[in-house]
Amino acid sequence: MGTSRDLIVMGAGPAGLAAAWRAAQRGFQVTLLERADHVGGMAASLDVAGIRVDQGSHRLDQATPEWLLADLRGLMGEDLQLRRRSSRIRVGDQWLSLPLRMDEVTRRLPPSLLARIARDSATMSLRRDHDDTYASVVRGRVGPALYETVYGPLAEKQWGVPGHGLSTMQAHRQAARLSAWKVAGRAVGRLRQKRQLSTGGYYYPRNGFGQLVEALADAAVDAGVDIKLEAEVDRVRVYEDEVEVSTQDGDVVTGGLVFSTLPLPVLARISRPAPSLTSIESAARLRYRAMLLVYIVHKGGRWSTFDSHDIPDPRTPVLRISEPINYRDNPADPDDHSVLCAEIPCSMTDEVWGLDDESLADLVDETLGLTGLPSVDRIHVESRRLGQVYPIYRLGYENDLTEVDAWARMIRRVVTLGRQGLFIFDNIHQALLMAYDAVDAIRDDGRFDRYAWTVARERFSRSGGGGH
Ligand SMILES: Cc1cc2nc3c(=O)[nH]c(=O)nc-3n(C[C@H](O)[C@H](O)[C@H](O)COP(=O)(O)OP(=O)(O)OC[C@H]3O[C@@H](n4cnc5c(N)ncnc54)[C@H](O)[C@@H]3O)c2cc1C
Repeated sequence: MGTSRDLIVMGAGPAGLAAAWRAAQRGFQVTLLERADHVGGMAASLDVAGIRVDQGSHRLDQATPEWLLADLRGLMGEDLQLRRRSSRIRVGDQWLSLPLRMDEVTRRLPPSLLARIARDSATMSLRRDHDDTYASVVRGRVGPALYETVYGPLAEKQWGVPGHGLSTMQAHRQAARLSAWKVAGRAVGRLRQKRQLSTGGYYYPRNGFGQLVEALADAAVDAGVDIKLEAEVDRVRVYEDEVEVSTQDGDVVTGGLVFSTLPLPVLARISRPAPSLTSIESAARLRYRAMLLVYIVHKGGRWSTFDSHDIPDPRTPVLRISEPINYRDNPADPDDHSVLCAEIPCSMTDEVWGLDDESLADLVDETLGLTGLPSVDRIHVESRRLGQVYPIYRLGYENDLTEVDAWARMIRRVVTLGRQGLFIFDNIHQALLMAYDAVDAIRDDGRFDRYAWTVARERFSRSGGGGH
């Protein structure tokens, strides 16, 4: 029988790993159950042609609080590098640097688009848009010209829903990204030159983003956490004084408290007692976008000098192409080949999901040609598929989330957290902060302080996510 000081954590992504580590440091007996054969969730890295690559472009936000950075530096030392962002975005038929640079914006964008941006900026305070969808909020903030050229196409590609079918919440969670263009609009209006619109720094581990989650896992194991890999949770039974968690291979673990970073709809499906029919129906309506990742090995050194290229262009399903070795300074990276990672957000029922690797590589080749990027000298291609990546904030999702969340908050001895657990568009530092807060809410006797957790959750919802 699990005692009140036995904690079971479900899911070994950043949120689950940090929670397990912190709780073990406080003396709790922690078992961490992970479906995959490795830790890290979406933030894990893998090897392709001898190069550490990530599951899509990952950076640790510079907004990460200093005290949390100090903990991460304690785990990774000098390997956690502060890097300068060197990205680009395709606007019309031009590439612009990210962070945006005013001299480029004014020199490269066609005069007709610049004139529209300047006019939108001048009339910003006069516009009376309804703030009832993603499209109307973003249009109101950056103006119709930038919405139609950048944000509308990006949104539809990323979430598979046009901007007018997305909730305003999606826009509020992208506040930081929007403000750069808002400033750009004003600056174009005043024709200021050579101004960089944000600092654009980020943290990144020398050996790939996955080094961060691997360091957390090592620290967790050192603190006494029992990490069980290939342990897919398929049943959570809640009793009066304990919770019993079963995995597909027949193992059963009991504890006094469970932290779930599993997708909310999955938790609703596997929990006993089961939620009401209304909650089950609402859970089934909460949708996630899937992500296809295509890794192409390029012969002949670096393919570009940039870390990533964002592609709003609706003629290709590729949203972004990154080059992992440009995210870090690692002398161990090879100099005779490199890897590109193309991100294709999609639904698991889309045709692209079923394409073989060669067809996916051809699709990437077409995208390079279409957007004026250098061609690749391809020597290898491989792909990865992530089923549940972005929560989709379609119009009306709030009602379903409120229903399911109300059920989840009432499950005795179970706490949901993390990106999937709260259906929240968070970044890694926010997932880590949630984990810290959740562990802080456990009292020494093992009881969970729901009030402290509710206050913490209010803070996450006010702070907004980053939109990755
Ligand atoms: C393409 C892409 C780019 C991103 N870029 C950035 C970025 O630049 N900066 C940033 O801060 N964030 C970025 N993110 C977001 C970041 O990856 C997430 O915020 C973070 O991984 C969330 O951590 P988590 O622990 O909440 O969830 P996850 O990482 O999803 O972890 C959940 C874990 O639960 C496991 N699991 C699921 N079901 C079961 C089950 N039944 N039994 C046991 N285990 C199960 C999963 O295998 C997974 O390991 C990006 C995400 C993507 C997809």
